[in-house]
Amino acid sequence: MDLSIVIPLYNEEESIRELYQWIERVMVSHNFSYEVIFVNDGSTDSSWRIIEELHATNPEVKGIKFRRNYGKSPALFCGFEQAQGDVVITMDADMQDSPDEIPDLYKMIIDEKYDMVSGWKKKRYDPLSKTLPTKLFNATARKVSGIKNLHDFNCGLKAYRNDVVKNIEVYGEMHRYIPYLAKNAGFNKIGEKVVQHQARKFGTTKFGGWNRFFNGYLDLLSLWFLSRFGIKPMHFFGLLGSLMFIFGFLSVIIVGVTKLYNMYNGMPYRLVTDSPYFYLSLTSMIIGTQLFLTGFIGELITRNSSERNNYQVEKVI
Ligand code: UDP
Ligand code: MG
Repeated sequence: MDLSIVIPLYNEEESIRELYQWIERVMVSHNFSYEVIFVNDGSTDSSWRIIEELHATNPEVKGIKFRRNYGKSPALFCGFEQAQGDVVITMDADMQDSPDEIPDLYKMIIDEKYDMVSGWKKKRYDPLSKTLPTKLFNATARKVSGIKNLHDFNCGLKAYRNDVVKNIEVYGEMHRYIPYLAKNAGFNKIGEKVVQHQARKFGTTKFGGWNRFFNGYLDLLSLWFLSRFGIKPMHFFGLLGSLMFIFGFLSVIIVGVTKLYNMYNGMPYRLVTDSPYFYLSLTSMIIGTQLFLTGFIGELITRNSSERNNYQVEKVI
């Protein structure tokens, strides 16, 4: 099978049929063998009924139905598990992404040997309240992930080699960072293609509001942290803790020695507990010990985690 097209959707009843017909047109005119996997993420409208109807007449249409709304990332994850095509395409169900891009994306993966290609909505048809935060977000994501050539991390339209989707775990709201996930899994050839973007034809966006902004940054932070210190927490906490402890310990000695020195030389001196530095050093030692212990406990947890030996093995012969 050439192509698997994974489409997560939440209450998109107006567009599903039209979208499928468009995809079918493109697939047939290019002679692709394909499947379309609609992942119904707990829609409360008639989306699932429409998917069932499509499935009844088109064997290419497959559907996964969640009992409740889990979010776009879990939907993608389950779609990825099912995908059989050599190239896996993801796109949104709201017809903001154009199926006409698929053949070119396919070519980039197969002929130019990209691991994944991300769409870039160079000209966007979304309100400013969406595009402005996105600019900031993309700049940060570029810095943190080290994938310098991507302008648009969160574009719904992407293409992957089948390998890639089977070896990344999209959870929580991590769909925003799939390129980063792919990179952490060792897939380095990540490309970009400018794609057409349309204004939403039906319904409204499912990602409005401010929490999208904060959650997005927190997710990026945890990804960065996981990829750097996920299996070696001691390298972060242990180092920080030790430094703080040593700093506190030395300061306390200096405070003590200064007092003794002044005492024996008949100079004015004050009690160690009268000096603010004493308390600062004490705090530093306590925090240092706690950081160290946090790192140590982290190590103990990772040693027991079922994922500690989840390595990316590319081939076994
Ligand atoms: N979506 C989903 N589950 C959710 C929210 C959204 O499957 O909980 C789907 C949605 O139906 C659409 C895609 O994710 O197909 C992108 O959502 P949307 O178009 O609302 O996001 P935007 O384009 O505004 O960023
Ligand atoms: Mg959209």
